[in-house]
Amino acid sequence: MTCNPSWPEIQEHLQPMEEVQNRPDLVSRVFRAKVEEIKTDIQKRNIFGKVAAIMYTVEFHKRGLPHAHFLIILMDGYKLLTPEAYDKIVCAELPDPHIDHDLYKLVTKHKIHGPCGYLNPSNSCMQKQGKCKFKYPKELTEQTTKGKNSYPLYKRPKMITPIKVKGHNIDNSWIVPYNPYLLKKFGCHMNVEICSDIKAVKYIYKYICKGHDKIAFSVNNNDTNIEIDEIKEYQSARWVSPSEAAWRLLAFAISEMTPSVCQLQFHLDGQQFVSFKNNQTVDQIINNPMIKKRC
Ligand SMILES: [Zn+2]
Repeated sequence: MTCNPSWPEIQEHLQPMEEVQNRPDLVSRVFRAKVEEIKTDIQKRNIFGKVAAIMYTVEFHKRGLPHAHFLIILMDGYKLLTPEAYDKIVCAELPDPHIDHDLYKLVTKHKIHGPCGYLNPSNSCMQKQGKCKFKYPKELTEQTTKGKNSYPLYKRPKMITPIKVKGHNIDNSWIVPYNPYLLKKFGCHMNVEICSDIKAVKYIYKYICKGHDKIAFSVNNNDTNIEIDEIKEYQSARWVSPSEAAWRLLAFAISEMTPSVCQLQFHLDGQQFVSFKNNQTVDQIINNPMIKKRC
């Protein structure tokens, strides 16, 4: 889920002539309110079914817009195990504008990938081999199937007449999978996918826990007579965008996990790791209540 700077809650609180990029406080507050609302939808209103576990992390794009990754694990009895069950949650086709014009407008605005590939070879998703890193355009298919890899192949029927978006002819192979209810309610880029395979679950955990961006930089003296020790002068540092700074100053959660899981140390009886300061005596260390408790 990516923050949409055109959300009315953001736009109506801007002063005349004020621009969104100069109000990271407002962007953070509104995005946080949306994250809280989607959590309520998932955990309390059970829009996907009863939830056994949920985790999310908030990240910040280079330009500074916040986005969140959620992983939802449903309870037994609510798990999505069949293509029919997938179709109830995830959609990857253009809706009929005569049936639902609002949804059609939202899909054409937020849910079209790129385009990239032969339509637009210089799009940012294109890799050196000339392939899209997100594997668009996707295969057109009349039915949702489980797929050979970890993600299902969603129903993407052939269209009689493709539509024109940003000057390109677009069909269902360019649609980013979405949930119609969430797209209508939140009106922002929100990719919803089913991950039923352990490989996909492991990937998602790794992806949503990958942490913040880092940069390497150096500060050099202009005096060329001074020998520069490049290794010493490079710093490993973090990149913090204004909206991340605002998010952290407002003390909003960067990630949450329910139920919380903590990693326990695995050790033989009486052989756990113990940390201590080098000025402590053995007696002080073994009588430390925190260390005693962990024995
Ligand atoms: Zn692409």
